[in-house]
Amino acid sequence: MSLIDDIRERRDISRDELERILTTDNKESIEELRRQAREVATEVYGNKIFMRGLIELSSHCKNDCLYCGLRRSNTTAVRYRLSDDDIYSCCASGYQLGFRTFVMQGGEDGWFDDSRMCRIVANVRKQYPDCAITLSLGERSRDSYQALFDAGANRYLLRHETASPEHYARLHPAEMSWQHRIDALWTLKEIGYQVGCGFMVGSPYQTVDTLYADLQFIRQLQPQMVGIGPFISAHDTPFAGFPNGKVSDTLRLLAIIRLLHPHVLLPATTALGTLHPQGRELGIQFGANVVMPNLSPKDHRKDYSIYDNKICTGEEAAECRACTEGRIRKIGFETVVDRGDYKG
Ligand code: SAH
Repeated sequence: MSLIDDIRERRDISRDELERILTTDNKESIEELRRQAREVATEVYGNKIFMRGLIELSSHCKNDCLYCGLRRSNTTAVRYRLSDDDIYSCCASGYQLGFRTFVMQGGEDGWFDDSRMCRIVANVRKQYPDCAITLSLGERSRDSYQALFDAGANRYLLRHETASPEHYARLHPAEMSWQHRIDALWTLKEIGYQVGCGFMVGSPYQTVDTLYADLQFIRQLQPQMVGIGPFISAHDTPFAGFPNGKVSDTLRLLAIIRLLHPHVLLPATTALGTLHPQGRELGIQFGANVVMPNLSPKDHRKDYSIYDNKICTGEEAAECRACTEGRIRKIGFETVVDRGDYKG
């Protein structure tokens, strides 16, 4: 029995097995990893790839994460906020294009306080009862998460960034707390959200041990979604000089996560597509089953600049959707327009 068979059957991996997979340059074993991860994804979700429409609400942020182009200390970042009506028109064009999940993401921007955000969520919920509403607005209080859930939000994406408190402290300023972020994920789960955690691959100071801790944390939390993509350096941030994460490591980790969690919703991220012209297609071939085309208004796209050279910043929502669908069809998969809920 091969190592991959064994991991697949046990749905578990040891630290040393993780290291072996990340360091091997044996093409056959990587191909086997890919094949088996895709097989597992296909067993659960067939050849269906779920599309989520991403709406980037705000490039303002009160946080100062060392890796992110939108950190508050970055005085060269262009800041914008969508109005309520901008958001509703993104949803309307998204709905027309077949999207049944809206993902509203943004920097941690106090402008989108509970009264504003609950009003937006409630209006979208009322207008589109058949759609899932996903939020990705960072750390908020339990009351805030509860109010947004009660207003109609179903899912929340909050990458844990790293499961190692020491590593977290090297990626974030001292005022940000690893424990607070982890607690937020558990709170979201308790409230009843479908939650997504995740991390960047190749972030500065990441090691096999921190990655192994990430996998253990995912096992504990049992999230419905796991978002991983390569770290990409952003100009005018403290990490501007650090090398980008590797596409090959990201693909291997996607496959490993698929083998460990057959049912998880796993996006092939824009960051992966940014570092490789076929990055998202490769992600799908290594077990991903979600893509998130951009529905944000074209005139603000380039300003949601969390990292450099982000792709798809010059397209209309319709172009973005058509392009994504075409790419997916070309590699033999089918995009689906339903809500794409977790199959637990
Ligand atoms: N403010 C929200 C959304 C953050 S942006 C929140 O805190 O959840 C979404 C994700 O982009 C982050 O969680 C982070 O993992 C990723 N990200 C930020 N900067 C990045 C970079 N330079 N390269 C790659 N991914 C990055």
